[in-house]
Amino acid sequence: MTNVLNLIGGERVGDPQVARRNPADPGDVVAVTPSSDASVVDAALTAAAEAQAAWAATPAPARGAILLDAADLLRSRHSEVASDLSREEGKTFAEATGEVRRAIDVLRFFGSLGWRGSGEVLPSALPGTTVFTRREPLGVAALITPWNFPIAIPAWKLAPALVTGNAVVVKPAELTPLSVAHLTDALVEAGLPAGVLNVVHGKGSVVGDALARDERVAALSFTGSTGVGLGLHRILSDRRARVQLEMGGKNAYLILDDADPLAAAKVVAAGAFSLTGQACTATSRVYCTPGLREAFLDALAKEAESYVMGPVVSEQQLAVDVAAIETARAEGATIVSGGAAPTGQFLRPTVLTGLTHESSVVRDEVFGPVVAVLGVDSYEEGLARVNDSRYGLTAGICTRDLTIAHHFAAHAQVGVVKVNRPTTGLDLNVPFGGVKDSSSNTFREQGTAALDFYTWSKTVYLGHE
Ligand code: NAD
Repeated sequence: MTNVLNLIGGERVGDPQVARRNPADPGDVVAVTPSSDASVVDAALTAAAEAQAAWAATPAPARGAILLDAADLLRSRHSEVASDLSREEGKTFAEATGEVRRAIDVLRFFGSLGWRGSGEVLPSALPGTTVFTRREPLGVAALITPWNFPIAIPAWKLAPALVTGNAVVVKPAELTPLSVAHLTDALVEAGLPAGVLNVVHGKGSVVGDALARDERVAALSFTGSTGVGLGLHRILSDRRARVQLEMGGKNAYLILDDADPLAAAKVVAAGAFSLTGQACTATSRVYCTPGLREAFLDALAKEAESYVMGPVVSEQQLAVDVAAIETARAEGATIVSGGAAPTGQFLRPTVLTGLTHESSVVRDEVFGPVVAVLGVDSYEEGLARVNDSRYGLTAGICTRDLTIAHHFAAHAQVGVVKVNRPTTGLDLNVPFGGVKDSSSNTFREQGTAALDFYTWSKTVYLGHE
């Protein structure tokens, strides 16, 4: 068991009270954290505001070097961190190892961008005048993160915020405090000055809400559920602070008659069941044209039966998953594979058919290893079904027809399109985000696009004659 304290102005403080248990082994207490109140948020913001100017004045390559050193420290502790992440969140050791690797690579990517120029030089109509732009840090950024990628998401928010000269306050998900502690410990050990990075543990409705309402927070980046995100959007918009929200999904896959049914089943299973279906990009509804439906469903059932998954993250999430399957059954679903009978906190990958497009499991996010397969008569009907959702994060299509693939890429109303690849999984250098109720659709995360959120552009006229 590890006490995971708040980090305020370089000091580890707080009274550990709230225990996080291993979802695969409830006797194993993984971490104990404080349940902070608004006064701790105030102290964290004071520390961040005091430290920010000196950090912004530190040359960008020196800021980046700290991220690169932190990456090396995490690399040296790779298996310990992956093991803690797996104990805390429940993903398999292989998945946890991949996620820690991702956090290391994110630190390396953004660390090296400390050497990259920013801004541009532009011609002016005035004689003897040069115009250029500068990217300035915003000041203090608040980062509110979910439990499902407990080290990668904090890393992909922290790294661009820090390398561009901002100070930050992180509010990690209550279920996964230890993974983020490994990341912040590495940054502190690598030499990040006190106050530049602060962490406050506690309830979202207390700590997260206080961060959102504080005038000192110039920007808030949030990943989590749509309900919470939309509430934060109202608060931030009212005071015209910058906001980036990545929220829920109901990601669809379209399988056309010309696809290979086995390959399509593997793509759908990877998207639906990896990370126990607890990915915002998880495939949760599939539309299949008639010629392939039977072969695809057989292949998907076989994939589901052999899939190895970790436990569901919490009893509360398990209850949501089980209720979704029970409701689907009451609405007339046939359970092709899996079902609502957990062993401890472990569910089996579940494939449902016999539902209509209006069924709740087809319309609402479950956030578990549950996928519904429905029939459509044509590509056009499938595309319309894919787009008939309040969400718009990712969508995929299995086809060998390039013309249709391009049409789908142009017309799917989502932030990420995958052709013959799972809806989950993106490279760290590509822009990531959604549309509709999946995102504020303001600024993209990841890649160099992430730098835009954490900076503002200033135009400078330099007369020199
Ligand atoms: P959540 O919304 O319950 O919590 C996310 C974070 O917000 C946590 O740190 C939580 O403490 C905090 N929070 C809760 N209430 C708050 C409030 N009133 N004010 C401020 N902060 C508050 O989400 P979760 O259960 O941790 O994560 C699962 C959800 O996240 C799913 O809906 C999933 O689709 C989404 N998600 C989206 C992405 C994406 O990139 N689009 C990625 C991962 C997860």
